[in-house]
Amino acid sequence: MNDFDVLVLGSGPGGRRAAIAAAKLGRRAAIVDSRTMLGGVCINTGTIPSKTLREAVLYLTGLNQRELYGQSYRVKDDITVADLGMRTQHVIGREIDVIRSQLARNHVTVLTGTGRFLDPHTVGVSGGEDGEREQKYTADKIVIATGTRPARPGTVQFDDRTVIDSDGIINLERIPETMVVVGAGVIGIEYASMFAALGTKVTVVERRERMLEFADLEIVEALKYHLRDLAVTFRFREAVAAVEQHPRGAVTVLESGKRIPADTVMYSAGRQGQTDDLGLDAAGLAADRRGRIKVDDHFRTDVEHIYAVGDVIGFPSLAATSMEQGRLAAHHACGEPVPGILELQPIGIYTIPEISFVGRTEDDLTEAKVPFEVGVSRYRELARGQIIGDSYGMLKLLVSPEDRSLLGVHVFGTGATELVHIGQTVMGLGGTVDYLVNAVFNYPTLAESYKVAALDAMNKMRHIARLTD
Ligand SMILES: Cc1cc2nc3c(=O)[nH]c(=O)nc-3n(C[C@H](O)[C@H](O)[C@H](O)COP(=O)(O)OP(=O)(O)OC[C@H]3O[C@@H](n4cnc5c(N)ncnc54)[C@H](O)[C@@H]3O)c2cc1C
Repeated sequence: MNDFDVLVLGSGPGGRRAAIAAAKLGRRAAIVDSRTMLGGVCINTGTIPSKTLREAVLYLTGLNQRELYGQSYRVKDDITVADLGMRTQHVIGREIDVIRSQLARNHVTVLTGTGRFLDPHTVGVSGGEDGEREQKYTADKIVIATGTRPARPGTVQFDDRTVIDSDGIINLERIPETMVVVGAGVIGIEYASMFAALGTKVTVVERRERMLEFADLEIVEALKYHLRDLAVTFRFREAVAAVEQHPRGAVTVLESGKRIPADTVMYSAGRQGQTDDLGLDAAGLAADRRGRIKVDDHFRTDVEHIYAVGDVIGFPSLAATSMEQGRLAAHHACGEPVPGILELQPIGIYTIPEISFVGRTEDDLTEAKVPFEVGVSRYRELARGQIIGDSYGMLKLLVSPEDRSLLGVHVFGTGATELVHIGQTVMGLGGTVDYLVNAVFNYPTLAESYKVAALDAMNKMRHIARLTD
């Protein structure tokens, strides 16, 4: 008999959910990770530190209160990295505690160290307690949830002080006065907006013409306007030729010849699957150029009893989806009936201000020649918007004029990542814009924006009907 029914490599959101789901189904489950990484990238270097940092920035700068109390309003004048780090470390510590307790409560065995395949059913774990010898464990089913690390272009020398990647943010010694962010993906733009809010002069360099091109164009334009207002400079269609390091900072040299001096250069140039040291060949598996592992609809790899979930399988690389993938993989591995993963998944971008959406974008629908009507609600027209001092927020519904179903929901501003779930629920349950028109919402709330936007869409559709009747 094997040592475990299900053994999971990596304790991030995907791995953790897989191990706990297997344990809940009565299986002997184990999870492997190094002592310093329990909770994964998510808890230690990615989602949780970045979102806590954002909250600390918003609180200490008083940015969200300035519309009400004036542009000079601040909770603290000289914000230090210690002020920011305190909150981050507190939350990380608490989260790790919660995870430890969940694993213990569910009788998941935690194997400390790094795992690698010795054969398709055997994993060697080394680097654990007191650096003891590699221990071998066998399992019926194995789930790979080893996540990713920041990709580092070979042409740039990282010193983890002046030239850093996103992992280096939480180790900064001081808040930089100037910063270059290379790459306008989600992580790059989130950090660019946080530092801009802190008063850092940020320049964002992006090879492509647009940023966040999967999001609603109008909302991305609104974000760019806000970030420019916080002194962010955008350099689109520009590539970095070199980063020169000097004693008091770095100069980012662009291929166009521009030279940008900065205290800190942060590279956010994609991520690489952590599969190099996994011994995949011993299991009969291989990863692609970016270290990612291919899976089927049930998260099974090419070797039937080995599953892979989370960032290591690629898009969408979110904690939220990784968790669900882990749960579904464990259920499949344990022979439980599983539906496929729901297609309708929200995207949250924690910039300042934040963005969230579910469903399709205007561009996407136009390209597919799917007609739609737009209903918009602006926070400044809502009592709650006035109360909290958010005059820029908006919610936009894309509605099918044919059957009045919701095709997409796009939110910008305070609470966007929470509000989107109302739209997601209506869409997921096959509801129409009529429900939002007829529903009574608490007053004064931002949720009320659904009703206002629904009425707007409805009025536009009525107008067309009147003209064409
Ligand atoms: C800066 C930043 C901000 C983010 N913000 C958000 C956000 O706001 N919302 C969101 O949904 N997502 C966000 N993400 C993405 C999110 O963090 C990831 O999607 C999620 O963590 C992936 O989970 P995972 O299960 O793949 O494991 P990960 O969290 O990637 O963890 C993988 C774990 O595997 C371990 N491991 C690696 N190799 C081995 C081995 N050989 N043996 C044992 N263990 C191993 C690692 O030590 C690590 O602990 C962010 C990411 C970053 C970097």
